[in-house]
Amino acid sequence: MFQRSTEKGLYITINDLGHVYEILCNWPERKISVIVVTDGERILGLGDLGAQGMGIPVGKLSLYTACAGVDPQHCLPIVIDVGTDNETLLKDPLYIGLPQKRTRGEKYDQLIEEFMQAVVKRFGQNTLIQFEDFGNSNAFRFLEKYRGQYCTFNDDIQGTAAVAVAGVLASLKITGKKLSENIILFQGAGEASIGIAHLLMKAMKEEDSSEEEALSKLWMVDSKGLLTQGRPSGGLTEHKMTFTKKYKHMSNLEEIVREVKPSIIIGAAAVPGAFTEQIIKDMASFNERPVIFALSNPTSKAECTAEQAYTITEGRCIFASGSPFQPVTVNGKTHHPGQGNNAYIFPGVGLAAILCGIRHITEDVFLATAKALANLVQQEDLDSGRVYPPLTKIRDVSASIAVEIAKYAYKHNMAAHYPEPADKDDFIRSQMYSTDYSSFVPDRWSWPKL
Ligand code: NAD
Repeated sequence: MFQRSTEKGLYITINDLGHVYEILCNWPERKISVIVVTDGERILGLGDLGAQGMGIPVGKLSLYTACAGVDPQHCLPIVIDVGTDNETLLKDPLYIGLPQKRTRGEKYDQLIEEFMQAVVKRFGQNTLIQFEDFGNSNAFRFLEKYRGQYCTFNDDIQGTAAVAVAGVLASLKITGKKLSENIILFQGAGEASIGIAHLLMKAMKEEDSSEEEALSKLWMVDSKGLLTQGRPSGGLTEHKMTFTKKYKHMSNLEEIVREVKPSIIIGAAAVPGAFTEQIIKDMASFNERPVIFALSNPTSKAECTAEQAYTITEGRCIFASGSPFQPVTVNGKTHHPGQGNNAYIFPGVGLAAILCGIRHITEDVFLATAKALANLVQQEDLDSGRVYPPLTKIRDVSASIAVEIAKYAYKHNMAAHYPEPADKDDFIRSQMYSTDYSSFVPDRWSWPKL
């Protein structure tokens, strides 16, 4: 069964501590440009899938090839298997991972540290290491720890931030507002929301807002309610503190929406149906064009469906989701919901990083990516309700993003590969791997008539 599954990649377990380099040497390819690594603790909105999280690195790397033409031979999917806290998997005799509770603390950190060093030793400093679907606290910790030392980023925090901010920036072309004229409410205060909020804050500051002004526009709700200073329910981690308000404590989302009156509401808490009919109606009552992003994945976890958002707002909302929804027709007009898919971001950023030898992928790079993506949204996309280019154009979008990031990297002295390509568009596109099969049939050849 395992031989036929899609879970094919490299597994490094906690028992391999001290031997991670040797394990990496088992991978048959010597030249690796990009690694996607997970420990399987927070797969999409599905939770802890342990070693069965391999589908995520495999899937993301397939997108590197399909969207940005990164050579598949140079991609390496990795699961760090330290066990799982998923009881169902632990009881399953066919579970492929270590049948034990997750190892945490010092030993776990040692394994990640050894892994990072072993990657450089085996594949070189330029290897891009993308963290995917780690649990909340580890994701933030490792990003802080490694972002200044390695060529690395966390897609759930930074990739999500860039794609969501791109959607928000594109929505401004419809609402005609400045970014800082919006009030933005997040349902969820995890990796996605915190990442998005930080990048929005950066974008508002570029628009001339002070940090204080920007923060006053960003409101967050987690499982214990509105993030407010000294709230009785507690749970205010370091990352949430930045967005905590001096305000009365509230926990009901409908009441919070009525109180805060957001112009943009973003769902990323994997609580299906969290955007109730009342919330959507209220959004439509205080905004001519309410912006509603239901980002939780998979589709079953979305805060509301596209149909609910468009019908309840009578087609006035600007809607985007994390997972795809079918077009919706309201009063004779068909709306094509945009999908705020991270695949718009990481393949293009990764391609630029690999080709230009970008040393560290900073927040500025992600803001530049968000702007580049928003600029690729055409009037015809906006007219059909989309704040993203159609996914059918993703290869061109990824190449264009890579070109913009290459220009940015050389301009800001962040690229290590020289000579600097004079025509970056031509250079990037000529380096992309083609997924087309060559034809074995000459053009003018035809089957003989029998
Ligand atoms: P996370 O585990 O880091 O955070 C989840 C947050 O939701 C936490 O702050 C938690 O307190 C909060 N939460 C849980 N129950 C709640 C409730 N009842 N009310 C309010 N808040 C509640 O997860 P994450 O990485 O932030 O991802 C969250 C969701 O966003 C997932 O479904 C994920 O698939 C989705 N996501 C979508 C995209 C995208 O569309 N591009 C990208 C990343 C993540």
